Amino acid sequence: MIQKSPTLNRTPESLIIRPPSEWRSLLVRITRGCNWNRCRFCGIYPSMGQPDFSRRSLEEITGDIDQLGLRQPDAETAFFGDADPLAVGMDVFVNAARYLRRVVPVQRLTCYGRFSTLYKLGRDNIDRLAGAGLNRIHLGLESGDAQILQFQRKGQSEKMVVAVADWLHEAGIEISCYVLLGLGGRDRWQEHVTATAAIINRIEPEFIRLRRLWLYGEGTDNACPLRQQVRDGSFVPQSPEGTVLEVQLLLGQLKSLNTFFLCDHANNYITVSGYLKEDRADMLREVNDFLALPGKQRQAHYQMISSKI
Ligand code: SF4
Repeated sequence: MIQKSPTLNRTPESLIIRPPSEWRSLLVRITRGCNWNRCRFCGIYPSMGQPDFSRRSLEEITGDIDQLGLRQPDAETAFFGDADPLAVGMDVFVNAARYLRRVVPVQRLTCYGRFSTLYKLGRDNIDRLAGAGLNRIHLGLESGDAQILQFQRKGQSEKMVVAVADWLHEAGIEISCYVLLGLGGRDRWQEHVTATAAIINRIEPEFIRLRRLWLYGEGTDNACPLRQQVRDGSFVPQSPEGTVLEVQLLLGQLKSLNTFFLCDHANNYITVSGYLKEDRADMLREVNDFLALPGKQRQAHYQMISSKI
């Protein structure tokens, strides 16, 4: 039987969000929305029109890969989403990764992931992911502080993070972690930063990417759940200046790791970047210089920064 070549006959499903570093990637939707959907500080998928989670079939995914391969035959990188694509199940994920690499010979395949999902999958499955060509995974570390993670309903523990990071390092899959400035509010910002620095020093990810807490969906039916705690006073949002002090404290406590540290989002008040091993002192100096500016100048800078994601 003659195998028919795919033709451009339909539009592949789009992801809701992707990391900024994947802007040139071939974007493949494996799951829709977030499987967990409980983090108080989040609510991004519901607020962007995807309140429910669902798994796509391998047939749907490979059909999209065919279409994407026709549109971007020279793509060098690919990315699997939405929030927790490994929740689709190992067989579908691994077959989708293998199929993608057959259709488009990308140099890098990346996905979003959750530490708790990877912890449940276990070490052998992480080796399978590496064997299928997954090179890097974007994970929400958010905070190293157990009390904050519990309050924010993140569903992850230090034990999970450390075990998963060890397995990923051993499998040769790069770890890209997100840290959320302001997650401890004004009351626990020092605990937030100190515990976060400690766990980063322990797991030494390839990337640390800073984000600033932003509460989604004001005035909508799908508002970020944390808005309730802000209203009842049990969570007091961090100030702009406090957010910069968090970056200062974090850089002061991190070791000279083989980690690229960056603030690659427009909502960061300060955007230092560099390798912790070589550039940590320079980044810290940049933050200190900013904090030494006259107060009026700093306030004017904060007002210029967009709060949108
Ligand atoms: S932070 Fe991630 S895991 Fe938590 S609800 Fe949002 S998308 Fe889901």
